[in-house]
Amino acid sequence: MSTNHEASHQPKPFTGDFTLQEPLPEAAITAVTDVMRSGRLHRYNHAVDELSVASTLEVAYAKWQKRDYCLACASGGYAMATALRALGVKPDDTVLTNAFTLAPVPGAIESVNANAVLVEVTEDLVIDLDDLAAKAEQYKGCVLLLSHMRGHLANMTEVMNIAERFNLRVVEDCAHTMGATFDGKLSGNFGHIACFSTQTYKHINSGEGGFLTTNDAQLAARAIVLSGSYMLYERHGAAPSAEVFESIRLETPNCSGRMDNVRAAMLLAQMDHLDNNLTRWNVRYEAMQEAISASNRLALPSPVNSSVRIGSSLQFRTPWLDADGCQEFMKRCAKLGVELKWFGNPTPVAFTSQHSSWRYVEAQTLPQTDRVLSTLFDVRIPLTFSVEDCRHVGNIIASVAVSFEGA
Ligand SMILES: *Cc1c(COP(=O)(O)O)cnc(C)c1O
Repeated sequence: MSTNHEASHQPKPFTGDFTLQEPLPEAAITAVTDVMRSGRLHRYNHAVDELSVASTLEVAYAKWQKRDYCLACASGGYAMATALRALGVKPDDTVLTNAFTLAPVPGAIESVNANAVLVEVTEDLVIDLDDLAAKAEQYKGCVLLLSHMRGHLANMTEVMNIAERFNLRVVEDCAHTMGATFDGKLSGNFGHIACFSTQTYKHINSGEGGFLTTNDAQLAARAIVLSGSYMLYERHGAAPSAEVFESIRLETPNCSGRMDNVRAAMLLAQMDHLDNNLTRWNVRYEAMQEAISASNRLALPSPVNSSVRIGSSLQFRTPWLDADGCQEFMKRCAKLGVELKWFGNPTPVAFTSQHSSWRYVEAQTLPQTDRVLSTLFDVRIPLTFSVEDCRHVGNIIASVAVSFEGA
């Protein structure tokens, strides 16, 4: 064999597209065109004896999520703002949230004019329980909007113990954890309300959209009226009974953010594929993680005991690199076709941002989070990648790490 030994260590470039999602299943396309042919696009525009597609979707999602009530709405961000309003968060109230999350989270807090108080995250990318306990004690009785950012679940038993001790009400942001579990229980079923996104990069795709789920009848009734139900709330499928609405229906504002039947039809057809897709993500994640682990220089977050993640993206850190080194790391990966996002960038790029770039939030000192994010990278895992593709991407990342050795 005349293969150059050096070159054999350099994987060939990857040519996949990190932003390419799968097409929607044919059943979804048929369901959408059926809705369009019917002309009944608005969720309350349906025959009297029927449930609308949006309501049918809510029933299906509530069942899958094992919750009593589900509201389908305009976006995940809208679901979070609605959750805060339903809980009665008022201007200048404090809302605790993790310092490592995406901009829609502080944005939802800002949209109700509340003050975000940021909690440190650990090297495993979950909320720091000591910092949470300290801030929960300081702001007793407030709401915690807990973002399971990039799919990492904290020890939810401990989070809920802290919440109980300091009387916090908990909203879970499950944008990246639809289907993830802690101690066998689905993420979203620990707090008072859970919010999900069905935006294109999440686990089911309607372009834009979201769900709010809860087992609390009062909160569900408020969320439904808030979402713009007019006085048509009795047409919902996964809603509390009409009496629950009696006391809140006239005091709750209509802040329209409904889901229409077109997007509901897309999502309803995808529900049949959801469990299988979650497995497909995890197989891909495992393959990429295994390949990355070949370089022992990259720090991968360890899942908290008893948690099961859905690997729709992968994170790793390069603790031995400074900011210039991180830029160089991204450049070398990009040259080989691997698109990384770097959470350490002081200016926000694409979907990454740091708490310091949310200028509408009062500046806060979070040395641990800043240290973790300074060398944190993110790779998307779209289902259009084969398992082999994911191994290939992992090999490239590992080889780039090796290329820094002795540099
Ligand atoms: C996507 C996302 C949301 C919700 O986003 P929308 O685009 O409003 O649906 C919330 N939190 C996180 C962490 C997200 O990534």
